[in-house]
Amino acid sequence: MHRDVILYQPINPKIEKLVEAHGFNPEALSDILVDLQRTPEGLTTENLEDVARALNVPAARVQGLAGFYSMLATDRPDRTLRICDGPACWLANTGEVGTAGLNPEGWRVERTSCLGLCDRAPAALAAERQVGPLTPALLAGAPGHWEAALPDYSRSRPGEVRVLLEGAGSIDSRSIDSALAHGVYRGLEAALAVDPAGLLEEIESSGLIGHGGAGFPTGRKWRIAAEAPGDPKYIICNADESEPLSVKDRVLMDANPHRILEGMAVAARAVGAGEGLIYIRGEYEAQAVLLEHAIAQAEERGWLGGDVQGSGFSFKVRLHRGAGAYICGEETALIESLEGRRGEPRLRPPYPVTHGYRGRPTVVNNVETLAKVPHIILNGADWYQDLSPGDRAGTKIYAVLGHIRKPGVFEAPIGLSLRQIIDDFGGGMRDGSQFYFALAGGAAGRLAPPGLLDVPVDYASGPQGIHIGVGAFLVCDTSVSPIQMLREVFHFFEAESCGKCTPCRVGTQRVRALLDQILTGRGRPEMLAELGSLAVILESASFCGLGSSAAWPLQSVLDHFGDELQAAVSVSKG
Ligand code: SF4
Repeated sequence: MHRDVILYQPINPKIEKLVEAHGFNPEALSDILVDLQRTPEGLTTENLEDVARALNVPAARVQGLAGFYSMLATDRPDRTLRICDGPACWLANTGEVGTAGLNPEGWRVERTSCLGLCDRAPAALAAERQVGPLTPALLAGAPGHWEAALPDYSRSRPGEVRVLLEGAGSIDSRSIDSALAHGVYRGLEAALAVDPAGLLEEIESSGLIGHGGAGFPTGRKWRIAAEAPGDPKYIICNADESEPLSVKDRVLMDANPHRILEGMAVAARAVGAGEGLIYIRGEYEAQAVLLEHAIAQAEERGWLGGDVQGSGFSFKVRLHRGAGAYICGEETALIESLEGRRGEPRLRPPYPVTHGYRGRPTVVNNVETLAKVPHIILNGADWYQDLSPGDRAGTKIYAVLGHIRKPGVFEAPIGLSLRQIIDDFGGGMRDGSQFYFALAGGAAGRLAPPGLLDVPVDYASGPQGIHIGVGAFLVCDTSVSPIQMLREVFHFFEAESCGKCTPCRVGTQRVRALLDQILTGRGRPEMLAELGSLAVILESASFCGLGSSAAWPLQSVLDHFGDELQAAVSVSKG
């Protein structure tokens, strides 16, 4: 009997060509898969194996990566509407706009974690296009009209102190001439006249801290990287804004992309880096295009690239698109992702400042942090410190959302109280609404009850205060249950846990399941003790900040809304 034995099967030439277009570079694996997904070939098992063979990497690495990122899918049609179920969209969706109404003909509808469009809630991605606020009436019309009205941040709210948002709406973000006319690159020009040691001193004295949520001193980070052995060094701009409620980085990229490049270049000069990378979340395609355009213009005009403005300083920037994973906002996961692997956090230490991208000293700074740098260089550390009262420094971009009259983004000193955020900048509670709580700081924040309305919100607040986090506040009236809000937050953490460690992978799922039982009348009193234990386990035993910070909203509900939990389990249906 004749039997065919396949000894060698050639790689599909189309796939080989696609991989070749990325320089046969394994670091570009997620880009290759995003591109492959767009072709008629798609992400089939055979094609993933061909990609692995073309790159000369194990097939398991390619398949593992394809299964990790939410924007990669083997069977997603082009016309897919991915509706956000993050906390702000969930809140906006619970009124007259029910999920059942959001079902346009010819489109597949899927859920997605927060899209960074909380100021356009309820929001979605239609293929790659950011749309919202969505209504059933809007979706009944042509897809070209789903964008709805874009938020307008060109005018200051009373009491705003604008530094980063200065010029928002009047700068043409596609034009370097417009940016130059508004003073962009003057900070870099000044920095080129100062030696790196002077730049480090200025940033250290300014008190600038990281605005990705952790608040680590920027100058200290830069100094460690500058003094670390190893070459080349890298500057990474973390534009993977995936924390639910946070939209500030998207607003800054839309308003003034050249300012971010300028901040990266100053950081590079201070640290001694020659290359920069922007890691932007894949859902921010519009902002990625803006930044790529800005990079090309800046290189053409000599503000990036070799021998910047004849100074002898060289700095190149390239942009990398993420493929959908909240955990990639964690700096070591981001670096893993940049190197073409699943975005799972690394064990720390060593920290990226000494062993980061490709094992070299690497500074990872958030968009907002980098955008502040040129202003500090131009105006001085003392000016920056004086922008906020007391020992706080600088301004902050806040997002105030939910049941208030004027939701959106504004810039103000650090140290406002929640009452000021709501009343002075958010226009107060909506008519007929009474404040009940705010999800404060972001999803990895705390649910703040009325008793905390007058506590200053900053980076130093202890467990009983309000930590500023990413500066975002979802304000809820008495129609919203804090237990239900907590459930939505844990639905997010469960979906976005990378699965590397048990406390987070199992803990987030278990908390969400317990909350579901409590909310459906099947809770039991002993569940409250289990929730308390899970908060301790999540905070103390998780491998990275995603799991440990998930404990904070849970603990805040146990601390401040224990009576409501008790009442929910005591009316249990068994
Ligand atoms: Fe992954 Fe563990 Fe971090 Fe959760 S805490 S995201 S499972 S490493």
